[in-house]
Formats: sequence, structure tokens, C-alpha cells
Amino acid sequence: MTQKVRAAVAFAPNESMRIVEVDLADPGPGQVMIRFIATGLCHSDQHVLDGHMGHKFPAILGHEGIGEVVSVGADVADFQPSDRVIPFLVPDCGRCAFCRSGRTNLCVEFGKRRAADATPFSLDGKPVHVFMGIGSFAEMSVVHADMLVKVDETARTDQACCIACGVTTGIGAATITANVQPGSSVAVFGVGGVGLSVVQGARLAGAGTIIAVDRNPDKEPAARLSGATHFVTAGGEEPAGRQIRRIAPMGVDYAFECVGMPQLLTDALAASNPGWGLAVGVGIMPDGATLPVPAGYLSSGRAVKGSYMGGAKRQDVGRFVDMFVKGDFSLDHIVTHRLPLEEINRGFDMMLSGEAVRSVVIY
Ligand code: ZN
Ligand code: ZN
Repeated sequence: MTQKVRAAVAFAPNESMRIVEVDLADPGPGQVMIRFIATGLCHSDQHVLDGHMGHKFPAILGHEGIGEVVSVGADVADFQPSDRVIPFLVPDCGRCAFCRSGRTNLCVEFGKRRAADATPFSLDGKPVHVFMGIGSFAEMSVVHADMLVKVDETARTDQACCIACGVTTGIGAATITANVQPGSSVAVFGVGGVGLSVVQGARLAGAGTIIAVDRNPDKEPAARLSGATHFVTAGGEEPAGRQIRRIAPMGVDYAFECVGMPQLLTDALAASNPGWGLAVGVGIMPDGATLPVPAGYLSSGRAVKGSYMGGAKRQDVGRFVDMFVKGDFSLDHIVTHRLPLEEINRGFDMMLSGEAVRSVVIY
């Protein structure tokens, strides 16, 4: 059986998405049908729209959704209709070496499923591909139960949806990947939605000095609201690195790159303490990029570490939603625009122009 659902479909790279009705298949074994309530617009969706991620078209993007369970397939014991859920884009099969390690979120099913390219969506009998197995730019979708996390129903959905990706990527990078320690010093390079969440994570971890670095001085108020104690404008006369040294003369304990520029990760490393500084790569780097690091940067003890989805597992998403409900952090200054699905293209325009930190589609 299939049913008709409304979706924003990307038919080709560098084209506006179009709102059409597509066919959605029923959930198979281990799968769950969800009706989305809200979904955030993320830079990774934009990368696909730009044709940079080798994704197949036509495609339904969207991976920052929150919704309700409609129905479940066979062998799904953990979820039932009307459960409030967030799909997390990395599955958690619980059986592979990565899942069992307790250390990472890189389940082998993630790569396997992306290679298998299965999709619950079709249009005129032809497959419509789905990004990351989620497809929250459709009002309903079918996802694997091992990607779902049950979340607090009192969390406001127009903001909590962003915990599915951007917020978890940022707070996780600070609290899980880097494990920022109380009283430490932190620099965050690039304070868009993810960078601001790294700042929030550093604050939650009790960092004493949090330096937000961005080329756009207009980002200072949001950075301060997130917990930044200092703001450094990059790209001006005085190099950002020198400004950071005036605040943290020995270099910061932790430096985060949140833009996706190899040179900026090198700059982050250079800004860190030569004895124990940790530079964390959070931004998605261009395909095939290499990291230009003078070997001397590492010889005295610094380290570079990558962070994918903040090192979080799906359970961490539920934990971050609980913290959000408790008021540990606010998303008031992160979710700046709310749109109907029909205006989704305008949402991406506002992301690119910098007018919006995060836009959210409300169904
Ligand atoms: Zn994302
Ligand atoms: Zn696994």
C-alpha cells in the first residue's frame, strides 16, 4: 500500500525545490511511519542542493525533523502510534563494533543503507531518493526504528526539531567529542547555528573563557546570548589569532572549526595551547580537501580531532531535548524564521544570505 503525501522535491541540483504529491510506502519490518510537525533547514541539505554530495535526484531532503509515530511495521517493539519522536541520522543497530564501543556513533548500518539507496518515496512509479533515510521535507516519511528517539512531548516543536542535527552536532562536539572541562578556555571559529551550539555546549560544560570568532560582527549578540565571554571579528586588520592571544596568552585549551574550511582548522590549531590544545573539526570539509598543518604545530602535544554529529548517539538527542525543556539552553536566538513548506526555497535563500540563523518549516 502507498499513500499520497506532500513534499518539497529537489528534481535536480541548483534548482528550486517544488512542492508535489509523492507516494509513500507503508513501513516494512523494523520501520516506522512518522508525520512531521516541524523540520529545520540545515547546511547539509544545501550541500546536496548544490550538487556537492553526489546525491541522486529527484530527492527529498530534510533531516532535522520532529514528529509523531503514525504506524509501525513488523518487529518494532519500542514505538507506538502517537509517540513524539526525532529521527537521528545515524542509526544505532546495537550490534556492530562501533555501536558496541560506546565511544562513537558511526554504526556500520549508516554506510550500508546509504549505499543500498532504498527509499519509501516514489513519483509516477519511479523512486524519489531520500537524504540520510529521513526525508523530513515531506509531511510524512518512513524511517528505520533504530534511528528514532522518543522525546519529551512538552518540548516546543518549532525549536526542538533543530536538536536533531545542528544543536546536537554543536553541543555534542563540546561536551562529548572534546569533553570540555570546567574552567577551561575555548575558541569557536564560525558562529552560525552549529557554532552557536558549540558555544552553548562549552558554557554547559563550565568553560571559563569562551571566545566566539566570526567575520560578521553582527553575530556578536547571538554569540553572547549563547554564552560567549568574548567576541573576535576575523578578517580585519588584526589577525584573529593575535586577538585570541590577547585574551588567552597561552592559547586556548579547545578550538572548534565550525565552517568547513581546512585552513580555518589549521588556524584553530594554531590558536590552541601548544602543550595540550585540542582543535576539533566540526564543519563539513569539501570533498577531497586536505589539512595544511605545519608538523611543528603538533610536536609539542597539540592534537586535532574530527567530530561527526558531535559524537552523539540517538540517546544523547533525547538527553539534549530534556536539557532544552529544563531550560539549560535556549534556542530563541537560533530559530529565527518559521515558514510553511511552500516557502522552503526562501528559507534556504535566507540561510545563504545570512538573514536567518535557522529557518524551520512548520507543517
Ligand atoms: Zn544537518
Ligand atoms: Zn551499529
